Amino acid sequence: MKINTPQSRKKLLFLGAISLIVLAGAGVLGGFLAVALTASLNNQPPAPLETVQVLPSTQPVPRATATAHTESTSIRPTSTPMSPPTPTLEPTTFGLSSTPVTDTNATPIVSTTLPVLSFFEGPLLITMSVQGRPLHAYRFGTGPSSRAIIGAIHGGYEWNTTTLISRTMSLLLENPQWVPSNVTLYVIPIMNPDGYAAGTDAVVARMNGNLVDLNRNWDYQWQMTATHGTRPVKAGTAPFSEPETRGIRDFISQKKIEAVIFYHSALGVVFHGANSESSQTYPLTQMLSDATGYPIQESIPGQITTGDAIDYLSEVGVAGTEIELTSHAEVNENEFQRNINGLKAFLLWVPEIVTATVASDVTIGARVWVTYTIQEGDMLSSLALKYSTTVEQLQNINGLSDEDVLYVGGEILVPKSNE
Ligand SMILES: [Zn+2]
Repeated sequence: MKINTPQSRKKLLFLGAISLIVLAGAGVLGGFLAVALTASLNNQPPAPLETVQVLPSTQPVPRATATAHTESTSIRPTSTPMSPPTPTLEPTTFGLSSTPVTDTNATPIVSTTLPVLSFFEGPLLITMSVQGRPLHAYRFGTGPSSRAIIGAIHGGYEWNTTTLISRTMSLLLENPQWVPSNVTLYVIPIMNPDGYAAGTDAVVARMNGNLVDLNRNWDYQWQMTATHGTRPVKAGTAPFSEPETRGIRDFISQKKIEAVIFYHSALGVVFHGANSESSQTYPLTQMLSDATGYPIQESIPGQITTGDAIDYLSEVGVAGTEIELTSHAEVNENEFQRNINGLKAFLLWVPEIVTATVASDVTIGARVWVTYTIQEGDMLSSLALKYSTTVEQLQNINGLSDEDVLYVGGEILVPKSNE
């Protein structure tokens, strides 16, 4: 996958992505990343959204002006531009195969119906927003423990969460070893694309196309009128009345996602979900606080938080955390590094309760394969010897490449002993 930066670059149009034009080299990741990096090094403002955005199939409905809340346009003043920048990286499958990758040199040892996935896949369409914009996810890794990070649930008001995630995705593509073999990470850069396209203020750009606050629309102590600080905000006509919240809820459920980080701005703290018994929200949040340096905060003064995403998720058994960046501006290097530390810790995190989402026994050929927890000192070669198989077979069945590293505590499939 290491390819030289090409001499020429062309503009390519990708349907179905928020940032539809990515300057990239002729089919190479190197050029793709180089352009993103060049743009950020030169500090060039990203292209205005309207020049790169392809109109969604459904014509956006003009936004109603928020006449109900004229007292303030912003709870926290921002120095950000009126339009959030286009994410520097909405990766496409360009240069990255989303088709199953197998070792073409090796004759398949087993015929298996298990998919052998490549490290990266995307964009995956989750659903469409109220105004017809796509919600996209990207997959990194292939392990049985699925996790997710989600940006811009509050749209353009918290646009810096999306640029943080874009930069994070670039690093993940360069450092696939950060994702342990037992983990799959789903990345959703923009949960609220209508708000993202609507500027940066708290009244309109925080909300979705129905002017609903998507972090008040979940089925946990839901009320039709909620607050942002002390300001009333719309929570929808019912829990999950909004397509964006339904889409993310269903995606988390379908992908059996065990832990989620929602990025927000700009309180500079972390929050845990409401239920400490049915999920690992407390230990996850404590771990992330330690890794990032953001203190844990218990509540927001004056705010009645109803219909909150991580409260709902923690109740249904998904460990959820909110990380609040410290400002509404682009994160600086120091804060970016704190969040990379947090992400790495999130990827290596082992929940205290082993959930039922680990791979179950599978029959391949004549043998049953079972989950094995990696011990200190294990190597594929030693495991192959121990379980009377081959390194290639272990790699094929677990979707591992030569570059993949085994992590103590991670899980892979091995043939069941015949004893
Ligand atoms: Zn927020």
